This record gives sequence, structure tokens and C-alpha cells, in this order.
Amino acid sequence: MPERPKAPRGTFDILPADAESRARLHELAAGAFGAAGYGRIETPAFEQTDLFARAVGEATDIVTKEMFSFHDQGGRELTLRPEGTAPICRAYVEHGMHKLPQPVKLWYSGAYFRHERPQAGRFRQFHQIGVEAIGTNDPMADAETIILLDQLLRSFEVPGVTLRVGSLGTVSSRAAYREELRDYLRAHQAELSPEVRERIEQNPLRAFDSDHDQTRAVMAQAPQMIDRLDDADAEHLAAVERLLRESGVEFERDGSLVRGLDYYTRTVFEFTSDALGAQSALGGGGRYDGLIDELGGPPTAAVGWAAGVERILLAVAAEPPEPTADVYVAADGDAERERAFALVTELRRAGMVAHLDLARRSIKGQMKQADRAGARHAVLIEADGASVRDMSSGEQTGLDLAHAVEVLSS
Ligand code: AMP
Repeated sequence: MPERPKAPRGTFDILPADAESRARLHELAAGAFGAAGYGRIETPAFEQTDLFARAVGEATDIVTKEMFSFHDQGGRELTLRPEGTAPICRAYVEHGMHKLPQPVKLWYSGAYFRHERPQAGRFRQFHQIGVEAIGTNDPMADAETIILLDQLLRSFEVPGVTLRVGSLGTVSSRAAYREELRDYLRAHQAELSPEVRERIEQNPLRAFDSDHDQTRAVMAQAPQMIDRLDDADAEHLAAVERLLRESGVEFERDGSLVRGLDYYTRTVFEFTSDALGAQSALGGGGRYDGLIDELGGPPTAAVGWAAGVERILLAVAAEPPEPTADVYVAADGDAERERAFALVTELRRAGMVAHLDLARRSIKGQMKQADRAGARHAVLIEADGASVRDMSSGEQTGLDLAHAVEVLSS
């Protein structure tokens, strides 16, 4: 027997039973984001590798370890997108969106790829929904985007949600802080995990994300950027917090929140759920005022977030909904089956959910299928006419097929 092909490690199939709650999440997202003036954007599944190296940061985990990169037939270096913000900023610059009225508000949804160790809630192909507000440094934009994610999680009834908010200052104020943090880490080298120790020079902030116990104890005492903000950055954070409070969004201030991407400036935030295990992050983001500039566009302030679709679904752990249908049309014999086919087509064109048998079951078997499909009515087509049965009462009456749509939709 030849070996059966399997989906690659860390990937999964979305089967019809799982698809419905995803669709509902997308509907809620599209409704909420559209109402706030965000337009949908879609970018390619792969980009030039250089985009992520420049935007996400050479020393980040994503760029050093997690990218699915390959050469195409023309020798170009390409990467399956590991995140959505860099491609959208690339598109903003490429399409001259800075000439549009600012800010440009966008939302997206799609598949992302990271070569991570697969575990519950962590995959190599996963899905994100995200928003970006590009071309504004107003703290209202930070608050607006955060409120949108809060609203999405509330409307999807995600349990046990916590929001943490912090600030990473600006590139210049962070430079002095990074030096201070490096000195602190060097003084505690012996207690740090080898991985964190190796990154002291390149990426000292990453130490805050370590799950190594001793490193965590060191980091609990470490100096934090949030205490080193200049006046303008501190005022920005205070304004975002004020707006959240006034909007009834609960949050905690967290100076240890650094996030794994280099491009963040000022506001950073993350939503977690205690209904999830170790991978508790539902989504997060922040401000990235230097990124568009970095990618060759004009200096442009921006803020956004991405949320993990699978994480949201896992946290809710919703049972797939019971199927429902308007009509099941049952028939036996070739001529009757063809009349059933014509009726189902007519009903579907009229907007009804209508099913028929495609496996030549007996009438009894078809009635069982009608029940399983959650049909409100079953129509039985016979040589000398048709009848309709109300599936909940069992009441059966004759049906004039010329008026089937009218009768069945009432
Ligand atoms: P990040 O861009 O790393 O901040 O990711 C944003 C959100 O995407 C996270 O909060 C997770 O919910 C989700 N996410 C990130 N990486 C993965 C992954 N490998 N598998 C599943 N979800 C992920």
C-alpha cells in the first residue's frame, strides 16, 4: 500500500463543521470594522524576504527562526508572510496611499505562516484578523483600534479576557533604555537562560518574554521602559488610557509588555484569555510610527493589531451549531427524482435551504436524512402527486408543485 499523504506538521484542515463559527467571527469583524470606517485589504501570501527582515527586525524570533523562505525559479528570495503589518505598509507605500485623506483605515483576514513548535493553539499555518490605522499619531486611533478588538471579543463572547497596555517609547528614548537594560542583564548573566544571554547585545528586550523561571525572577526586578518615557510619550499613554477608561474598557498597565516585533513605538497592548493554556494570547499590537519611513515611504505614524482566529475559537470552544434546512425533497424512481431535482433548484433560487438525496436511499432512509439535516418540511414526490410533511408535528398534506415556493416559504 502506498503511504497516505498527510497535511504538513503544524497545519490543519478546516472541515465544514468548523467553518461555521469561523464565518460568524468574520461576519462580526466585517460588521464592526466597516462601521468604524475600516476598508478590507488583501495582500499576497508571500513577499520578498527582505520586507520582513527590514520591518519585523533582523534579531527577532520571527526573522531568525520562524520564516518559511524559499527561492523561486528566478532565484528571488521569497517568504510566506509571517505577519500582516509589514505587507500592508508595503502596499501603503507602493500604492501612494499617503496621498489619500489620512488616516487610511484598513482591516484584513488571512493565513499566516511561522515555523514554530506546534502545540495547542500554536500552528505553522494559522489565521489572523487585524486592523491598521495608518497616517495618524492621535491617541484616539490607538484607543479606537483597541476598542475594536475588545468589541470583537465581547460580541463573540470570548471568556476570561484580560487587556494589558504598555508603552515602548520612541526609538531614541529606547536606545538609552536598551543600554541600561543590557547593563542590568550583564550583571545577572549567570541567572539567565542561555538563549536570553546570547541575545543581550542584539535584542535585550526579548528577555521579558522568557518562560525560564530564573530569567523571569531577574526580569521582575528589571528596569522598565514605561518608567523612562519622555513627557510626550507619557502624555500619549495617559491619553490612550483615559479614552479606554471612558469607553468602559478594562485594562491593566504592564511595563513588561514588549511584544516580539521590533517595529513598535509608544503604545503596545495584548489581549489574553484564561480559557486558553500556555498560548494565552488572543491578539495584540501597537503603534509603529517608524515603519512606513523604514520601508521608503514618507514619515507616517500608524497603529494596529492582529488577533489569532484559532485562539479565539479555542477560547470559546463552541459546539458546532445544529444543522437547519427549510426543505428536504424525497423521491424514489428516475422520473420522480428528476422532478425532485427541479424542485430543489427552484427552492434554492428562491433563497431557501433545500436538500435532496444523491445516494439513492430508500424513502425511509431519505426521511432519516431529512431529520438529520434539521429540515422544517419534507416534500415527498410520487408518480401521482406530491405531499408535504411538517417535520415537527408530523402533519402531512397534499402539495401542488406549481405553488411549492409559496407554500414552503410561508
Ligand atoms: P503576533 O503577530 O505574534 O502578535 O500574533 C498575533 C496573534 O496571532 C497572537 O496573539 C495569536 O493569537 C496569534 N498567533 C501568533 N502566532 C500563532 C501561531 N503560530 N499559531 C496560532 N496563532 C498564532
